Amino acid sequence: MYKRRDFIKTTIAGSSVLLLSRNVFGSLKQSIKGTNDRINVTVVGKPCLWLEAEEFQYLGGWVIDQQSFTQMGSAYIMAHGMGVPVADATTVCEIPEKGLWHVWVRTRNWTAVWKRGAPAGRFQVIINGKTMPETLGTNGAAWAWQKAGTIKIKKGGATVALHDLTGFNGRCDAIFMTTDAGLIPTNEPKELDAFRRTMMEQMGTKRVDDPVVYDLAIAGGGMAGTCMALAAIKTGSKVVLIQDRPMLGGCNSSEIRVSLGGGTQIPPYPNIGKVVNLISPVMGSGGTYSADFYEDERKANAFRLCPSDRYRLCLNERVFAVETDPNDPKRITAIIAKNARTGIETRYLAKNFADCTGDAFIARLMGAETMYGREERSRFKETLAPEKADQLVMGMSVIWRSKKLKEPTAFPDIDWGLEFTEDKVYYIRGGDWEWETGQYRNMAEEAEYIRDYGMMAIYANWSFLKNHSKRKDEWANDVLEWVSPVGGKRESYRVVGDVIITQNDIEKNVIYPDATATSTWNLDNHFPDPENVAKFDEPFRACAYHRCYEKPFPVPYRSLYARDVKNLFLGGRIISVSRAAFSATRVMRTLGSLGEVVGMAASVCAKENAEPRDVYTIHFDKLKNLMEQGVRFQTYHPGGTGTYEGYHFKEMGHLPVDDAERAKRNISPEQEAEFQRRVKSLGVIHKSMEKDIQ
Ligand SMILES: Cc1cc2nc3c(=O)[nH]c(=O)nc-3n(C[C@H](O)[C@H](O)[C@H](O)COP(=O)(O)OP(=O)(O)OC[C@H]3O[C@@H](n4cnc5c(N)ncnc54)[C@H](O)[C@@H]3O)c2cc1C
Repeated sequence: MYKRRDFIKTTIAGSSVLLLSRNVFGSLKQSIKGTNDRINVTVVGKPCLWLEAEEFQYLGGWVIDQQSFTQMGSAYIMAHGMGVPVADATTVCEIPEKGLWHVWVRTRNWTAVWKRGAPAGRFQVIINGKTMPETLGTNGAAWAWQKAGTIKIKKGGATVALHDLTGFNGRCDAIFMTTDAGLIPTNEPKELDAFRRTMMEQMGTKRVDDPVVYDLAIAGGGMAGTCMALAAIKTGSKVVLIQDRPMLGGCNSSEIRVSLGGGTQIPPYPNIGKVVNLISPVMGSGGTYSADFYEDERKANAFRLCPSDRYRLCLNERVFAVETDPNDPKRITAIIAKNARTGIETRYLAKNFADCTGDAFIARLMGAETMYGREERSRFKETLAPEKADQLVMGMSVIWRSKKLKEPTAFPDIDWGLEFTEDKVYYIRGGDWEWETGQYRNMAEEAEYIRDYGMMAIYANWSFLKNHSKRKDEWANDVLEWVSPVGGKRESYRVVGDVIITQNDIEKNVIYPDATATSTWNLDNHFPDPENVAKFDEPFRACAYHRCYEKPFPVPYRSLYARDVKNLFLGGRIISVSRAAFSATRVMRTLGSLGEVVGMAASVCAKENAEPRDVYTIHFDKLKNLMEQGVRFQTYHPGGTGTYEGYHFKEMGHLPVDDAERAKRNISPEQEAEFQRRVKSLGVIHKSMEKDIQ
């Protein structure tokens, strides 16, 4: 493992500049090879700094986005102000040397893709109170370095701020500062990754190893991953749950705001679903509510009911890599995650793993067989499947709400993004499940575009409504109250297990021998709404087709692990189902209940030193036993049955009346005397005295 001492030694040997604080680097000693000739320089002795925007000390009104970590190389921050500039993100760094510093910012003009109007998300960098000349976020559609300018800075502490100008989602990945005028940071993804890594290592942020070998390591803390973790812990496993957002819940968190659907505690295992019920928000019919309705803390608090030595809960950490057994490439040995706020990368070892990322991220890294889009009708003989396979998926929703104020409110008259007219505008005050984008795109690879398209359509429609529509007076007092910065994903990759559930299984109620929790939601299939498709080149609204089936369908265990990765469980929307069957199994109480099943199966694996498939072939009776019992959580303060009798003095604690029992508490003679004095003065008749007063 990395030792800070070693770093200091090498840095002194290599250059005259020492690491002075977090975010400050010594000289960059490597040769950074790039496509641009000017990058092919060996920079020795020139100080440079690297500031990861998501690690700024204060984020102000900027929010962290990790959804596109793999695609753009990092988490980044975004000025999510719904048209009102947000508070500055600020940090402090140490300037190692007085001089003229060249300041580069990795950013993009996110609305450039629609080739219309001014860049939406503009911002500036302010160093020690001085605003850098260049307006940033104006550099084209792709993530790239844009020069903020040059500035003379003294040696010592300096403040750096990102100052939003528009409130329309300007975004910043990192700031690179150097006194070398010839050093232009690379935009080539692989080289940039190496460059970033070198810089991070130079500043002392390196990979650490969690010393525990977990029974189960789970990536993704939506309802599926959270219920799985809790069930595994409570049935005896050691668990690590790694979630890339600051809270648990995924689509049911206050960031995305989808209500839970489906049933729990249904035969054949009416005790499955207790964990789902424990962490479910009290509220949650259709529609979107304020943040508190989603009870993010409730999901995290459930872990406090578990023994603390049996789990590690890692929030803000994104799994980005897997390691495999060199002798068995189909077996995972570790997953590696990066914390967005600290930059620390941690390697987690485990016997079994679970992919609950919603995008089958781990499964795909492992080369597991996956399905995406709609299978052709003949593949599973499903009437709901199209004749020919295609890549159509149910889209991502950026849910939004508005509210009415007493006074008129303005909204910027924007010229970017989609152009709305009276024929196209939607006279609405919020967007829920139907505000849906990306149906023809790749949900995992194009998440940033898909979310941006949903968000841009909200702003462009709202701007037209408020500034130009015929009925603008009716909207005069309306203001955008909340627009999700994340975007909720409905569908992405599914992973092939030993059994693939189909529409026929569900509609004919096929009962498999390894039946587990039940699916109760209807076959609920979304399509781009034809009305919207007719008006726009790319849809942003959906409609749904619902078809109920006769009886709840128990999902077989064999659809809950990957067929071709030996120790990978599946959780959430990636389980092994056909696209048509997915339209029913995809809801969160069902996926949470199935998460419970996997949690129990992981505990069977831990006890029997087994792999997921073995639970079906050898140990299914043990899983069955656990499913019959369900996961039990204790009730706090259940009451006072039993034989105990005693006093509770706050500073002395609970002390029994029985002298022999009290003596076992090892209290001092002084405390015993004090106890006797207080008890005597209270004059309570103890059980042992009752016979004397009858
Ligand atoms: C708008 C909308 C409406 C819907 N309506 C309903 C409804 O009414 N009722 C219902 O029950 N369902 C509904 N659904 C479906 C349901 O929300 C999803 O199917 C469900 O959230 C899937 O659960 P999950 O745990 O698999 O994924 P998610 O809820 O997406 O959770 C996965 C979590 O993993 C995290 N993650 C991803 N990659 C990584 C990584 N590499 N490392 C660490 N963490 C990672 C993500 O940030 C996320 O928080 C709706 C979905 C949407 C989008």
